[in-house]
Amino acid sequence: LSRHFLDRIAAHDETLNAMISGCADTARERAAALDAGGAADGPLAGLPIAHKDIFCTRGVRTSCGSRMLDNFVAPYDATVVERLAAAGTVTLGKTNMDEFAMGSSNETSFYGPVRNPWNTDYVPGGSSGGSAAAVAAGLVPAATGTDTGGSIRQPAALCGVTGIKPTYGRVSRYGMIAFASSLDQGGCFARSADDCAHVLQAMAGFDERDSTCVERDVPDYVGALGGQGDDFLKGMRVGLPKEYFAEGLDDASRKVIDAAIAEFQAQGAEIVEISLPHTELAVSTYYVLAPAEASSNLARFDGVRYGYRCENPVDLEDLYTRSRGEGFGREVQRRIMVGAYVLSAGYYDAYYLKAQKTRRLIARDFSDAFENVDLIAAPVTQAPAFKLGEKLDDPVSMYLNDVYTLPASLAGLPGMSVPAGFVDGLPVGLQLLAPWFEETRLLGAAHAYQ
Ligand code: GLN
Repeated sequence: LSRHFLDRIAAHDETLNAMISGCADTARERAAALDAGGAADGPLAGLPIAHKDIFCTRGVRTSCGSRMLDNFVAPYDATVVERLAAAGTVTLGKTNMDEFAMGSSNETSFYGPVRNPWNTDYVPGGSSGGSAAAVAAGLVPAATGTDTGGSIRQPAALCGVTGIKPTYGRVSRYGMIAFASSLDQGGCFARSADDCAHVLQAMAGFDERDSTCVERDVPDYVGALGGQGDDFLKGMRVGLPKEYFAEGLDDASRKVIDAAIAEFQAQGAEIVEISLPHTELAVSTYYVLAPAEASSNLARFDGVRYGYRCENPVDLEDLYTRSRGEGFGREVQRRIMVGAYVLSAGYYDAYYLKAQKTRRLIARDFSDAFENVDLIAAPVTQAPAFKLGEKLDDPVSMYLNDVYTLPASLAGLPGMSVPAGFVDGLPVGLQLLAPWFEETRLLGAAHAYQ
């Protein structure tokens, strides 16, 4: 299997640019050891996988898509990487991503954009665009990703693969380079909900090295799907938030989503309209909170400890200024400036504190909605993939693109994107959201639909 997928990477990645670093040598060594009679252990024994380049991998460059970490070889494995390796996976490479996971199109990477395998003139979505494109193109059967404001669900939708962002705290963030710590959550991409269940099973669970990781048993996702009958969706109440089907949603995408919902109904689900009244505040709330947290998290990249350092600094201030000015790309610098601004004296109450309050309102909308429904179904994006370069010079239009994924992130809810159909040859995803820690329900519904 590893050799097959390594050959696929060699044949197609020059076009797609889904990988930043390869691990072909170690993967081939593993394969040779197995040929020689070595044992393959674990529930995922021999499963080739690629990790988003935000996860630290011992002995392999971990760049986070940035010039800042272009020379950084992690001295340890992230918990996610360690657990998947212990389950038997074989790492084939590190996937391309928006710089420090900031972006919705995978165009902010220091290593150049990733191309959408369905049409290479189009973006794959971001920030985990490399992982989504790699799974879509059959370069790997599964890949890890992270979702802070949609970075698993959105690229999964635009590349036509299945992606799951678990509940905040379900998967350890240890060794996952921090962007916005109160939102960041690891998850995965694969071709089906069933495959995602296998990968998530190995990733999830308490880790004492991450203080926000929740100490709570991991259900048997794989067993639950295996034992699921044909009537899983029967009687399930599925809410359609009217704010997600309002102005802005492209007509052709809406038809695809409507057909997917009709399938849920055909399987016995009860469809009800719901309202999440604070949805329109999500973009402004997120784009205050995420940059604020990013400006604080990224303060560690100072040219002193590790990562990029400018040539011949004349003094300490010059060292900081030029290392950060040269090491970070434009979008990252923009976020740091916005973040520092909203946290500064005199503006904190007006922006940061206000955003914390609206975040609470957005989360409460979901708690209220889940009093009446078991699941929420919605679009992931307003339209299918856009062309490379189309939104690059217009950050606000890029940010607005995240309107359907940000609310669940702000509420810490688990979410999925499931392939639902195509518009002009480009995939459209159906978003499913469940209450906190109800990943089994989410995966079950996606599995029944698929
Ligand atoms: N597109 C969003 C952003 O640019 C979300 C990114 C993410 O989830 N990592 O911040």
